[in-house]
Amino acid sequence: MRKKVIAGNWKMNMLPNEAIEYIDKLSKLVKDTTNEVVLCVPYIDLFYALLAAQNTNIKIGAQNMHFEEKGAYTGEISPQMLKSINVEYVIIGHSERRQYYNETDETVNKKVNAAHRVGLKPIVCVGETLEERENGKTAEIITEQTKLALEGLDEEQVAKTIIAYEPIWAIGTGKTATSEDANNSIKEIRKEIARNYGQETANRVIIQYGGSVKAENAKELFSMSDIDGGLVGGASLKVDEFNKIIHFEQ
Ligand code: PEP
Repeated sequence: MRKKVIAGNWKMNMLPNEAIEYIDKLSKLVKDTTNEVVLCVPYIDLFYALLAAQNTNIKIGAQNMHFEEKGAYTGEISPQMLKSINVEYVIIGHSERRQYYNETDETVNKKVNAAHRVGLKPIVCVGETLEERENGKTAEIITEQTKLALEGLDEEQVAKTIIAYEPIWAIGTGKTATSEDANNSIKEIRKEIARNYGQETANRVIIQYGGSVKAENAKELFSMSDIDGGLVGGASLKVDEFNKIIHFEQ
């Protein structure tokens, strides 16, 4: 049985003091959950967030990284740097990075491989645009993105990679995919992984849904057969709302 992983993506929000306050509050509320709770915070908050999350069941992740170990890449952060302070997760290929910062399937693949080399758990985002969806290309786009992202990994590394299916038209827009639609897309992704790495590996991969998840729709989405939790943007900025999403079963 796959675990549900509920990950917050704070994007470019929250100062260190706000991060500490938030984690102090959330950690008390989620101490009994069996779901995996992850907060992907801005780089500047990482160290404070890791300290605040010590001795709690909240895991900390970054929102991006470079694929090289070190070098002349001004302004960048390496996988080794994240690992050295005990960051556990890293979001790779978020659509905002694909859209605004020239992230490509090739750089996503390099980053996914680099993350596994140092033992970081990548959360890899895939998803179609509205135009691609309207042209009936959703399955083709998301299976191709998944295939390219995972190239070069062995089965064990694939099994330890989280995929976040995030239809781009649903991110930050208030529009959500229906639970059936999201589940079907995620089944396509799992089928693609099974084709390349075997059904057993595919059955182990955690595949989240992301795109305007909130307390009121989390239960319906996360109760579907193939949706293993979510990547949550806006609604993860409010402790009480995010806590309700984490406790979606109740
Ligand atoms: C995201 O940032 O990955 C996301 C899904 O954002 P939102 O929940 O705000 O749509």
